[in-house]
Amino acid sequence: MVLDNLGESLRGALKKIANAGFVDPALIKDVTRDIQRALIQSDVNVKLVLELSKRIEKRALEEKPAAGASNREHVIRIVHDELVRLLGPQREVQLKKQTIMMVGLYGQGKTTTTGKLAKYFTTKGLKVALIAADVHRPAAMDQLEQLAKQVNVPVHIERGEKDAVKIVRNGLAEFRPRYDIIIVDTAGRHKLDDDLIEEMKEIFKAAQPDEKFLVIDAAVGQQGGPQAKAFHDAVQVTGVIVTKLDGTAKGGGAMSAVAATQAPIVFIGTGEHLDEMEKFDATRFISRLLGMGDLQSLLEKAQEAVEGEEGDAEAMARKIMTGKFTLNDMYAQMEMLGKMGPLKKVLGMLPGGMGAKMKDADIEKQQVQLKRFRVMMDSMTEEELENPGLIKSSRINRIARGAGVEPKDVKELINYYNKSKAMMKQFAGNRRMQKKLMQQLDFGGGGFPGG
Ligand code: GDP
Ligand code: MG
Repeated sequence: MVLDNLGESLRGALKKIANAGFVDPALIKDVTRDIQRALIQSDVNVKLVLELSKRIEKRALEEKPAAGASNREHVIRIVHDELVRLLGPQREVQLKKQTIMMVGLYGQGKTTTTGKLAKYFTTKGLKVALIAADVHRPAAMDQLEQLAKQVNVPVHIERGEKDAVKIVRNGLAEFRPRYDIIIVDTAGRHKLDDDLIEEMKEIFKAAQPDEKFLVIDAAVGQQGGPQAKAFHDAVQVTGVIVTKLDGTAKGGGAMSAVAATQAPIVFIGTGEHLDEMEKFDATRFISRLLGMGDLQSLLEKAQEAVEGEEGDAEAMARKIMTGKFTLNDMYAQMEMLGKMGPLKKVLGMLPGGMGAKMKDADIEKQQVQLKRFRVMMDSMTEEELENPGLIKSSRINRIARGAGVEPKDVKELINYYNKSKAMMKQFAGNRRMQKKLMQQLDFGGGGFPGG
């Protein structure tokens, strides 16, 4: 099972923004808190998280959206940028003579990545040699030998030898004078244990490696932080390599590993083959973690709904301003709400905020109600639709009969109408809110709602 709680939580937080009728300081606070919680639960350093969330909140409230960007896109962009910043400055491996030690739990991709690195450095014109220091899995040496053959580099192997440190010493003695890059592939365990950490410390002492690469599977999830910390304490990790990003895992745990080691991600693995390794690109990584593609299409959908109804929305807004509000208006408004139109924004700004907290499920429920209302409204005269105050008991019975419903259903519709109308009246009498509405609908310049 793929454990990627961090990515999921972050995506959930940003979906709140993408789905929101409009963005206000309360929403930003809410979302920032979600992000905070998600990162802290993934063992990202609390101090870093607090700094990050403070910056997100400040920027979201103070900075103006770029030209053509909505408030929603603006805030999502800020969260994205700040997470990229959390990953630290980009770092590349140096193309110089050096010893590299690979560490990580069993199955994370150490041996495969050793082969990929060998290929990478070879294509850069450096002379590479490998040392097989996994003495725990008999097949591990064969696997590395296979890879070395494919890349055409030498590998130091001592089959049957149980002392990994001895193998490393011998391998270094053999290769150091003549090779530029020496990569030591080490053993892992199914889970962290003292024995493994002790072995890593000893190899570290013997090899004095320049680079210590922690290899972690993108699916590592929340254990990423503690795992990384344990290896870091043992060998002082200098770089992280996240493997299997070609799968479904989004690499949330890798963020925790980076935070725990303060070591940047240098490469990512995107497949089993030797050339399926890429230099790490923080922007792309975070976009993937956050599901920016999905968010983008959500945002576009919302934008289309707004654009498609601009005319309707404007007419509706003007009507509300005049304080006139008929059953037909109410119906049109409910219809628009279902399409995520600007009326949701309008309702969100009303006192008692009937649209602000409106969830998708509520909107669905309302769409069912809308169908029932339509049937009843079809039994009304034009006069009644324009002036619902006329609808009293005898008319109620007539309408109910015509629509095949109970009189109480008609009364429910009238009640709903009266409530909506009362809210609209309140709105019509409030200039400050009207101004906000006009800004929201972009009839009077943009601007952040609520200032
Ligand atoms: P080690 O135990 O840490 O040395 O892990 P291995 O290098 O033996 O890799 C474990 C498994 O993961 C193997 O089946 C590899 O082919 C596979 N693997 C490693 N890196 C990647 C990657 O980036 N993508 C995919 N899809 N598979 C990978
Ligand atoms: Mg291995």
